[in-house]
Amino acid sequence: MRMIRTELILEVRDVSRSFGGFTAVDGVSFTVAAGEQRAIIGPNGAGKTTLFNLLTGLLRADAGSVLLGERELIGLPPHRIASAGVSRAFQTTSIFPRLSVRQNVQVALLAAAGLTRRVWGDGWSQKRDEAERILEEVGLGTNADQPASMLSHGDQRAIELALALAHRPQLLILDEPTAGMAPAETAATMALIRRVVAERSMTLLFSEHDMEVVFGTADRITVMHQGRVLTEGTPADVRGDARVQEVYLGTADVAS
Ligand code: ADP
Ligand code: MG
Repeated sequence: MRMIRTELILEVRDVSRSFGGFTAVDGVSFTVAAGEQRAIIGPNGAGKTTLFNLLTGLLRADAGSVLLGERELIGLPPHRIASAGVSRAFQTTSIFPRLSVRQNVQVALLAAAGLTRRVWGDGWSQKRDEAERILEEVGLGTNADQPASMLSHGDQRAIELALALAHRPQLLILDEPTAGMAPAETAATMALIRRVVAERSMTLLFSEHDMEVVFGTADRITVMHQGRVLTEGTPADVRGDARVQEVYLGTADVAS
């Protein structure tokens, strides 16, 4: 059974980021409980990806605070945020296509341990067992020796999830995990994510366009529009909210 705990894992307070004169994320505040599966939704341009870039240190916030437990993340570089417990998957093409699936995970494990340079010297003996355990976990146990490039699109996603798990995240961030996927692949990818998140008692923060995926996975949903939080609630609350329907039809103007 998945447990949503009472303590907060993430507190986002008044976070803003502008590009030139345009404010992409505008005073965003929300909190996430430990163990929760939270969706961030909103039409294109709402600021979801920018928000995730601020949370993971890829972009620096102009203002605001992001607490992971007691720890302030704003101002930390991405690798420090990763070692604090926040991993993002499916974002970069961080797979080395000519290395084996196992070697890819070994590289990620060595990087997570701060041993990036070590791998090239010693015949891939390090972190081998741990890499295999993670590959079993994501369903790639039998693919360990194959070059990563040989795997299907869906299985490459599973590798990327394994790479994120190498950092032992408490909070897993996914920006549109099923973008570009056919329905069967979408279902399989989300089932894998939900299983791994539950087994590791992780917290999940994800954006997604596919409302079936959102309503099937999220405990709570935060709706963004024009860089701000429009509303937040349970899937049932959000589904019934007239303002949410309006922003998806493009008729709302909540800028004040
Ligand atoms: P979403 O992920 O919700 O579609 P984004 O965070 O990608 O939204 O973008 C929010 C707004 O910020 C968009 O209008 C986008 O054009 C703008 N934006 C994002 N990144 C940059 C950037 N590096 N420079 C200028 N504008 C940006
Ligand atoms: Mg986006």
